[in-house]
Amino acid sequence: MIPRPFAYHAPTSVAEALRLLGAYGDEAKLLAGGHSLLPAMKLRLAAPSVLIDLNQIAALRGVTLHGSVAIGSMTTWAAIGQHAGLRQALPVLSATVQLIGDLQVRNRGTLGGALAHADPAADAPALTLALAATLHVHGLQGTRTIAAADFFTDMLTTALAPDEILTAIKFPPLGAGEGAAYLKLPHPASRYAVVGVAAYLKLDGPQVRVCRIAVTGAGTKAERQPQAEQALCGGPGDAESIAAASTLAGEGMDILGDLYASELYRRAMVKVYTKRALTAALAEARG
Ligand SMILES: Cc1cc2nc3c(=O)[nH]c(=O)nc-3n(C[C@H](O)[C@H](O)[C@H](O)COP(=O)(O)OP(=O)(O)OC[C@H]3O[C@@H](n4cnc5c(N)ncnc54)[C@H](O)[C@@H]3O)c2cc1C
Repeated sequence: MIPRPFAYHAPTSVAEALRLLGAYGDEAKLLAGGHSLLPAMKLRLAAPSVLIDLNQIAALRGVTLHGSVAIGSMTTWAAIGQHAGLRQALPVLSATVQLIGDLQVRNRGTLGGALAHADPAADAPALTLALAATLHVHGLQGTRTIAAADFFTDMLTTALAPDEILTAIKFPPLGAGEGAAYLKLPHPASRYAVVGVAAYLKLDGPQVRVCRIAVTGAGTKAERQPQAEQALCGGPGDAESIAAASTLAGEGMDILGDLYASELYRRAMVKVYTKRALTAALAEARG
C-alpha cells in the first residue's frame, strides 16, 4: 500500500500544467481529488513518476451560470451541491451530488476527475450523456470541445489525449417543458452505482419531443439507450409508454455481472431504474 516514489509539482496555471505535461510525457499523471488515482498508486496499478497537482489552479474551480451552466473541472462535489444558483438552473445535478459516496468523498472528489477517470460505475458520466454536456479541453496543440457522447470510449478510457487537461464541463440549462432525473441503486459499501440511470425529456405540449436515457454501473462504460429513447420519442409520455420504453432499456448492451450483482439482476434493475428516472423526469418537465 505504498506508492512508487514520485516527483510532485503544483502549478498555478493551466499553461504551466501543460508545460509540465509536455516535459514529462507518459511519466506524468494529473492529480485532482486523488480519490481514484491515489488508491491506484498505492496498489501499484498506476505508477507515475511525476504528479502534476491541479489543486492550486484557481481558474479550474467554480460554477458560472451565463446562458449555459459551466463548471470548472476542479470543482468538488461539495461545491457543486452547495451552489444555490445551480439548484435552480440544473436541479438534477445538485440532487445527484447527494448520492455520491460520503462527505469525505464529496469534499475531495471533483467533477473533472470523475469524468476523466471514467469509472464504469460513476454517476456523472450518465448525467453528462443524458444532459448532452460538452467537455472543454486544453492541450499542447490548443483547445477543443468534446461532446459527452464522444467522450467515454471504454472502461476507464476517454477521448482525452495524455497531454490534455479537462478544464470545464458545460451543461445546457433546463427550460420550461424540460425535465431530468438521475436515480441509482447504490452499492451499500462505496455508494458507487450498481445500476444508475439518467433521463432527460423535452415536451412539446403533451408529446415527448426529445428523450435521452443513459445507464451507468451496468456495462464497461456509461451508455445511451437508443431503443428505449426511440420508443418514447413522439409519444404521449404517459405511464404506459414509459413502462413500454423501459422494457427496452439495456437491450443490445453488454451487461456485466460480479460478486455483488449478477448480469441478470443488473439487467432487470436497468429497466426498473429507467422507469423510475423517466417518471421523475416527466414530472419535472410537466412542472
Ligand atoms: C470511497 C469512495 C466512494 C465513492 N463513491 C462514488 C459514488 O457513489 N459515485 C461516484 O460517481 N463516484 C464515487 N467515487 C469517486 C469520487 O467521487 C471521485 O469523483 C473520483 O474518485 C475521481 O475524482 P478525483 O477528483 O478524486 O480524481 P483523481 O483521483 O485525482 O483523478 C482520477 C483520474 O483522472 C485524471 N484527471 C483528474 N483530473 C483531470 C483533469 N482535469 N484533466 C485530465 N485528467 C484528469 C487523473 O490523472 C486520474 O487518472 C467514490 C470514491 C471513493 C474513494
